[in-house]
Parts: sequence; C-alpha cells; structure tokens
Amino acid sequence: MSIRLRLTLWYSVILAITLFFFSALLYTVFDRTLRLDVDASLEERADDITRAVRVRGDISFFPRRVTLPRTEAFAAPTLYVQLVDLNGQVAERSESLADASLPVDATILESARAGEATHTTMEIRGRHVRLYTAPVVMGETVVGIVQVGRSLEVTEATLGRLRSIMLGSSLVILIITGGAGWLLAHTALRPIDRITHEAHEIGQAQHLSRRLKLHPHPDEIGRLVHTFNDMLERIELSFAAQRRFVSDASHELRTPLTTIRGNIEMLRRNGHLDPLDREESLGDIASETDRMARLLNGLLALARADAGRHIELSSVNVTQVASEAFRQMQIVAADKVIELRFLDGGLPHAATQSRGNADSLKELFLILLDNAIKYTPPGGSVDVRVGRKGRWITVGVTDTGMGIAAEDLPRIFDRFYRSASARTQDGTGLGLAIARWIVDEHSGRISVESTPGKGTSFAVCLPV
Ligand code: ADP
Repeated sequence: MSIRLRLTLWYSVILAITLFFFSALLYTVFDRTLRLDVDASLEERADDITRAVRVRGDISFFPRRVTLPRTEAFAAPTLYVQLVDLNGQVAERSESLADASLPVDATILESARAGEATHTTMEIRGRHVRLYTAPVVMGETVVGIVQVGRSLEVTEATLGRLRSIMLGSSLVILIITGGAGWLLAHTALRPIDRITHEAHEIGQAQHLSRRLKLHPHPDEIGRLVHTFNDMLERIELSFAAQRRFVSDASHELRTPLTTIRGNIEMLRRNGHLDPLDREESLGDIASETDRMARLLNGLLALARADAGRHIELSSVNVTQVASEAFRQMQIVAADKVIELRFLDGGLPHAATQSRGNADSLKELFLILLDNAIKYTPPGGSVDVRVGRKGRWITVGVTDTGMGIAAEDLPRIFDRFYRSASARTQDGTGLGLAIARWIVDEHSGRISVESTPGKGTSFAVCLPV
C-alpha cells in the first residue's frame, strides 16, 4: 500500500471517528432535551387540569363530590387526557383518544395512590406515547388520577431527520476531506517521487557525477536531497580514489616487471655475457624484485586498511620502539650523521607509555627515518627526538635534506604521490600513506614542516 493511500486512509479514519463521536454526543443531547421538553409540557398540562378540578363539600371519590373539568379543553389531536378514579376506572377522557384509553396498570395506580407521579413510554395503536400519570390531590387527600399522554411521532420524526442530516453531512464531509487529503498527500509526496526517479536514473546510468536537483525549501525533503547529494559526492570520491589506486598500482607494478623481463631476455639471448654485465643484470632483477615486494606489502597494508582492518592495540613504550627503529636505521645511514635524543634530559620510562602496537609504530618510525636518510645528501644530519607535551608523546624526525616544495606538501600523504625531485631516489610513494593510517589508528597526529633545500621535520604525537 502506498504512503499516499495510507496517509489518506489514516486521515479519513481519524476524521470518521471524530465525526461519529461528535454526532453521537450532539444526538444524545438533542434527544434528551426533546424528551425533557415533552415531559415538562405534560407536567404543565397535568397541573392545569388538576387546578381545574373543583370539590363540593367533602373531599371524596369521583364523580359525586368532585366536579371534573372538560378534558377536551386541555387536549389536542396528539395530546391525550384521561381522568381516572382511585380504582382505576376511567371517569373522563379526551376525544383524541377515540375509543382507546390510556393504560392504568397496577404499578402506576399504586404510585399515584401513594401520591407519586410517574413518566412512562408505551405503544398505543402502533404509536409511541409518552405518558404522565399524577395524583389529583385536594388538601392532603388523593382524590383521583390525571393522565396526560403525548404521541412521540413528531419528536421521533425530528430525531430521525437529525440522524439523516448527520449521516448525510458526515458522508459528504468524509468524501470531500478524503479527496482533499489524497490531493495534499500527492502534493507533499511528489518531491519524493522525483527524488526516487532521479536516484534510479543515477544508479542505472552510474552517473556518479550527477546530483539531485536541489529542493527550494530547507525542510525534510531539502535535508534528504542534501544528505543524498553528500553521499553521492563521497561515493564519487571514493570510486575515483579506488580507480586511481588500482591504475597507479598496476602502473607501479608494470615498471619493475618490464625491467625484470628485459633483463631476463638479455640473459637468455646472450649466452656468453660478460660476468660483470651478467652480475649487473641479476642485481637489477634482485632490486626490482625487492621493490615489487615492498610495493605489494604496502598495497596489501593499505587494502586491508580500506577493508576496515584495525590495528590491535596494547601497552607499548614509545621510547623503546623509537630506539629500536633508530638502531636499525643507523646501519644504513652510512655517510649521514644520525642522532637520537630524549628531550628534557631523558624521560622516565613510564612517561612514554602509550596504547599502541609495537610493530606498527616501529614501521611508522622506519618509514620516517628511511625518508629522512633517503632524501638527505651525504654529510647531512638526521635528528630523532622523543619527548612529552602534556598528554601527548612526541616523536620528531628532522633532517637537513632537500626539503619539500610548498605545492607538494599537501599531497605527500596521498598514495603513490612522489615529488618530482624525489624520483631520483628509490621509493613507492606509499610510505607516508601507511604512516598516516598507523597514526590515525593510534588516535594520534602527524604533521610536517619543510623548507626546500634546507630540510624537513616530521612530528608525530601519540596519546599517553
Ligand atoms: P617514497 O618515499 O617511497 O617516495 P613516501 O610516501 O614515503 O614515498 O613519501 C612521499 C613523498 O614525500 C616522497 O616521494 C617525497 O617527495 C616526500 N618526502 C617524504 N619524506 C621526505 C623527506 N624527509 N624529505 C624530503 N621529501 C620527503
């Protein structure tokens, strides 16, 4: 069932219930008022008749000492009057009754004799009649009984008309408002139809650069359009990044493969190759294989990160991990001065305790140290400093190398990004992307400052 139909149905059902209760209340009040009016008019008429009864001498039974009024004077075609003695015998009755008489049953008689008036409804000749029976009291004595009845035909006809009007008008109201509700729901939901249609087209044609047409109002629909467009933008960016990643990866892998293949062809063709050339070829193959292995390791790490893999964290001492990475890189630093310093004159061991993963943090420091050594010319220096700043453990790697041009700075953490000047050195362009992922996983921060030709400084902050 469509939302439009459901909304209209809900709306109509609620309106129908409201109309029903309202009509029922109105009808009950009206019905009661009409019946009370009838009762009041009967009582009034009975009082008039009682006042017209005259007594001669002693008060006794009808008809001897009591002069009865002419009932006809009080009656009307739909108003019946009857006077009864205390034995229940009819003494007078109006012509409107014709040959019928108003019923005087034992209970009515009993109540009247006891001086109590009663209201009853009964059927006389197929008509509902409201009957009022009251004692005729002279002094303190009940001398007879007066009965006034009125046909309820008019009252019932009025109530019947009211019922028809209420039912008819309720139906008309329901039809009109149901139709209006249906139109309103249609108008309110039209933008949703449009969004569905446009989103379907975008999905079918895979036009991720397309956006939904903006909604003119900042309402629920407007927010939906915004959210959807934001989502499209993110999907588009991530698709583009994914595509770039795959194309960059295949491109990066093709270069070493071509070199390896070229060297193998050469070795194959020249059976009697100079041992030196042969050694050089094999060396090329070995280094390209190493490069491919590094590239694949990097790709694997990033692919796992993309797939949502998280690094397992436990307690780790950053000083210890940084020292290990330092010792490992000291061997390859060769002609560069490399130094490890602890700020504040050496920190207590516990001051650099963090929640982290020793292997990943070591990999992070190795990437930074490897870059610093790689991009610093012979004779330069590389400085590693471990310290603390408030709730942060800081590790800085500063070199006096070639530096990074301002336009390259914002992009060096991108996958496969290598500045033009860095291409003379061996590298994959994945190191800093992996470094940033490791820092993110440790809820830390990494920043870089550099002056081209003077040197670069990377700073890593990890929470204590
Ligand atoms: P790779 O070093 O394999 O090229 P990275 O992701 O580690 O890849 O570094 C990306 C780029 O950032 C490098 O190609 C280089 O241009 C620049 N870079 C990183 N570290 C330094 C540094 N210490 N000095 C100068 N440039 C650097």
